[in-house]
Amino acid sequence: MKIAFVGTGTMGGPMLANLIKKSFAVTAYDVVPAALDRAVQAGATAAGSAAEAARGADLVVTMLPSSSHVETAYFGKGGVAEGVASGKLCVDMSTIDPTVSRRVAEALRAKGVRFIDAPVSGGVGGAEKATLAIMVGGEARDVEEARPALAAMGANIIHVGPVGAGEVAKICNNLIAGVAAVAVSEAFRIAEGFGVDPKVITEVISKSSGNTWVMEHMHPVPGLVARSASTNEYRPGFMTDLMCKDVGLAVDAARGLRIPLFVAPAAQQVYRLASSHGLGRKDFTSVYTFLKPSAENAPV
Ligand code: NAD
Repeated sequence: MKIAFVGTGTMGGPMLANLIKKSFAVTAYDVVPAALDRAVQAGATAAGSAAEAARGADLVVTMLPSSSHVETAYFGKGGVAEGVASGKLCVDMSTIDPTVSRRVAEALRAKGVRFIDAPVSGGVGGAEKATLAIMVGGEARDVEEARPALAAMGANIIHVGPVGAGEVAKICNNLIAGVAAVAVSEAFRIAEGFGVDPKVITEVISKSSGNTWVMEHMHPVPGLVARSASTNEYRPGFMTDLMCKDVGLAVDAARGLRIPLFVAPAAQQVYRLASSHGLGRKDFTSVYTFLKPSAENAPV
C-alpha cells in the first residue's frame, strides 16, 4: 500500500518511521526542509508538495499542528485535494476542531474522496514505540480500510463514531488532563507552603478521591515520578502551547454548543500566561513552576 504522509514533525516523524518498518511505501511532504530530510533518512521518498505526495497514493495521512494548517494542507495551493485521486481515503491524525474535520470531509466528498479523523494520545514516546491510542471518527468501512496503517502506528484503535467524533474524544480527554495538571499544581503548592512532604501527599492522594492519571504518570513536582517531564527539566512530553490549543478547542466547542464552562477557560488562561512567560515549548506540567508563591508573601 502506498501512503502519502504530510507533516513529518515531532509526532509525524516517528509515526512515518513505523509505517516504513511495517513495509508501507511512504512518500512524505513537510513545509520545513529539515523535517522532510529526517523523513527521507527514515526511508521515505520526498515530495515537493502535499499534492505531489498524494498523487498515486492509496492512503493520505496528515499530522499537522492545528485546524488552519489542516485546511491549508488539504485545500491550499499544492494541497492534498489537488493530487489525491477520486475514491481514495484521507486520514487526519492532527488534534483539531471537530467542526473543521467535518468541513474538510464535506469538501473532499464533493471530489469523491473519503475522510476520517484519527487523533492520537500517548505523546512522542507512544509515537516512537507505536503504542499510540488512536480515536477514530468516520464510516466503519473507511476505518477498516485504514486499520492496517493505524495498527502500524498505534496499539489501541477505537472507533468513536462518525467524522469528527475522534476529535471530540480527544478534546474531552485533554480538557480533563489540562485542568487536572493545573489542579494538581495548585494542590502541591499549598502542601509545600505548609511544609508537608510532597511524596507523602502523593501517596495519600493516590489512594484517595483526588487521584488522577496526571499526578500518577506526569507529576508536575520534580523528583516524584522517575520518567515524568518535571523530573527531566520539563522537556516535553506535551508542550504547554499544544495543551493551551487543545483546552482552547474544548472551550470553543462549548461556546458553539452554548454550554457554560468555568474551569476549562480558567485553565486555558493559566497555560496562555505560562506560555507568554516563556514556558510555551516546555512540557505543560511546567505550569507548576509558574504557580509559585509571590516573593512578597504578606497575606492581605
Ligand atoms: P509539530 O509542529 O512538531 O509537527 C507538525 C509538522 O507539520 C511540522 O513539521 C510542520 O512543518 C508541518 N506543517 C505545517 N503546515 C504544513 C503544511 N501546510 N504542509 C506540510 N507540512 C506542514 O507538531 P507535533 O507535535 O508533531 O503535533 C502534531 C499534532 O499532533 C498536533 O495537532 C498535536 O496537538 C497532536 N499531538 C501531539 C502530541 C505531542 O506529544 N507532540 C501528542 C498527541 C497529539
